Amino acid sequence: MFIREAFYCSRCGGFVNEKICPHEEEFRVRVSGTKLRKMIMSKQKPPEYMMRPEVVEVILSFENPFVE
Ligand SMILES: [Zn+2]
Repeated sequence: MFIREAFYCSRCGGFVNEKICPHEEEFRVRVSGTKLRKMIMSKQKPPEYMMRPEVVEVILSFENPFVE
């Protein structure tokens, strides 16, 4: 699966990209780096300095957070 510039959007309710998310920047949580994405996809909790814990909880609650 090819992942573009991905971010979590609280309005879309999952990982999206600029192409499919029409929302403002304030609803978006940037996920930078391949390592962080891999951790999330393998259901590992990223450390707090990489991502806020409450955001991690929401993301991990999705079966497949990376949507096309
Ligand atoms: Zn959105």
